[in-house]
Amino acid sequence: MSSVNSSAVSYAKTQSVGNATESGDRIVWVNLSLAFLPLATPVSDAKVLTGRQKPLTEVAIIVAEIETRDGFQGIGFSYSKRAGGQGIYAHACEIADALIGEDPNDIDKIYTKLLWAGASVGRSGMAVQAISPFDIALWDMKARRAQLPLAKLLGAHRDSVQCYNTSGGFLHTPLDQVIKNVAISRENGIGGIKLKVGQPNTAEDLRRLTAVRQTLGDDFPLMVDANQQWDRETAIRMGRKMEQFNLVWIEEPLDAYDVEGHAALTAALDTPIATGEMLTSFREHEQLILGNASDFVQPDAPRVGGITPFLQIMDLAARHGRKLAPHFAMEIHIHLAAAYPIEPWLEHFEWLNPLFNEQLELRDGRMLISDRHGLGFSLSEQARRWTTLTHSVGKRP
Ligand SMILES: [Mg+2]
Repeated sequence: MSSVNSSAVSYAKTQSVGNATESGDRIVWVNLSLAFLPLATPVSDAKVLTGRQKPLTEVAIIVAEIETRDGFQGIGFSYSKRAGGQGIYAHACEIADALIGEDPNDIDKIYTKLLWAGASVGRSGMAVQAISPFDIALWDMKARRAQLPLAKLLGAHRDSVQCYNTSGGFLHTPLDQVIKNVAISRENGIGGIKLKVGQPNTAEDLRRLTAVRQTLGDDFPLMVDANQQWDRETAIRMGRKMEQFNLVWIEEPLDAYDVEGHAALTAALDTPIATGEMLTSFREHEQLILGNASDFVQPDAPRVGGITPFLQIMDLAARHGRKLAPHFAMEIHIHLAAAYPIEPWLEHFEWLNPLFNEQLELRDGRMLISDRHGLGFSLSEQARRWTTLTHSVGKRP
């Protein structure tokens, strides 16, 4: 480890030449960990019912912890469902030493450096999902240093975000249990309910949707999510049949990369279209936004490479009048959604709760921004127990 430390010190000196921030703080320690979070029940969406994927039994979490010479800390995470967690972790371990000696405030510079460190395997997909934990940790640290919640550092438009529940409406869940889950979610203060659809049997989708709409009443916010499993013909037929349900949106009706198909559907239906969770770069979202492919954009900060590219997507989406509904990872996205100019929706998933000592609060259909600094989370002992691999570079201050 001593060779790492001495090279880190000399690197810091090199980088200070010509910088305005010569007396600035420096990153001296980076720790990566890979944990597997088990799910209580195997989870199925339309991708499972069409035979393309196995039920989801665990979520891989790749966590970065960063510390500086002056004692500041930040944490960030990426994730994968089914395959990919080991690969993201391995790539992150390979590029982690590029952070040592850098000023943690220079997030964009560090982002570019990390991107080029692994550029031969691309600027999207797993290559950038390995950068996400670092980038998110640096934004967490920057807000903690400013003694602000991240939403306030970015410039918040609101101190709470309307939120909807997804986890109660998966396709492995029998309809009577879905109805019970809806009641529990409403008692807990949720502001909307999302139901999974996209089964091979479209009549069954409509039967479940009819029952849930009757349970909720005509006006309670309700969304559906087909997880990319319709073809264009099925999507327009189902979209027309679903107009009567007063849906907030129809999510992922088509393949995630079918920009033209989504654009045609968006133009044809009154019900808004939402998509974007599967995209893994700013460039992919740019095609979606400039292609008029949806009413709601659904970026996912860990998937697109972190908060830095997510902010670029927000900026473009806002300039084109799109609504925002970030995918998963509410612990990160509550801050980003709060900083979006147009009223956004936040996706509520309780799955990651055991990873953290702190929890987000729901009230009157909205999730509240806490007054904790940064993202406002610290890793739990349970997260440490689920950790299978760790790798660190540098030396803790
Ligand atoms: Mg979805």
